[in-house]
Parts: sequence; structure tokens; C-alpha cells
Amino acid sequence: MIGYLWASPNTLVGLLGALAAYATGGRVRVVAGVLEVEGGITARMLAAIPFLPLGAAAITLGHVVLAQSKMFSAMLRVHERVHVSQYEILGPFFLPAYCASSLWAYTTGRDPYRDNVFEREAFNESDVLMFADTIAERW
Ligand SMILES: [Zn+2]
Repeated sequence: MIGYLWASPNTLVGLLGALAAYATGGRVRVVAGVLEVEGGITARMLAAIPFLPLGAAAITLGHVVLAQSKMFSAMLRVHERVHVSQYEILGPFFLPAYCASSLWAYTTGRDPYRDNVFEREAFNESDVLMFADTIAERW
């Protein structure tokens, strides 16, 4: 319960995305305590994420996972659940910490996505191959 409260500022942002998806015909359901959203305007929102030329196949915001399709929700579930755990630990500090990690990787000549410490943990703990997951998440 504390994890839900601590992550709730991020979850509220995710709920705005869920509301936009639902209002445009998207699907919203709870899977193991996490709101999974796909369809409607979700794909267009994920394609417009800055700094990812091809957008993202999925994104986690607190206890909300927005995915371009049901297939990506299922395929990236383990990976995105690692991010949910990271939000439960860092709460409102997760997104600034995530951005700082990407910035650190970039300024030290590494990939700001794959060498982000939070992504590395998610890739290490998910059983999807990193290369395939990277392609899928970046779509
Ligand atoms: Zn990730």
C-alpha cells in the first residue's frame, strides 16, 4: 500500500493517459495490481515521446502501463513491472533519477536508453532478450 501511495504522483500522470486512451476507444484493465492500457490514442501518444525517434512500444508511469497494443503489453509485462517496482521505491524521485541516469550515460559516451541504470535492471530481470526488448520498447 505504501508503494502505491509513494508512486501515486506518477500514477496520476499515467491515469491521464489512461483516460485519454479510454475516451478514444482504448482498453483499460487491471493485471496483478497494475493498470494496463492499450488502444485508442495510446499508440499516437507513445509515438510522440521526445528523444525516441521511433517512439516507445510501452511506458510505465507509476502503476499504469501504457502500451501500443495488447501484444506489447504481454511481451513487455515483466520489463515494465520492474519499472513499477522502481517507482514504488523512488516514488516522485524516479523520473528525475531516470533522466539523470540517461543524461549521465549520454555525457559519458554511452547509449542514454540501454545504458540507463533503470533500463539495465529491467532488462536484466526480464527474460526477454535485450536486443529484442529494446527494439520492441522503442518500436
Ligand atoms: Zn524500460
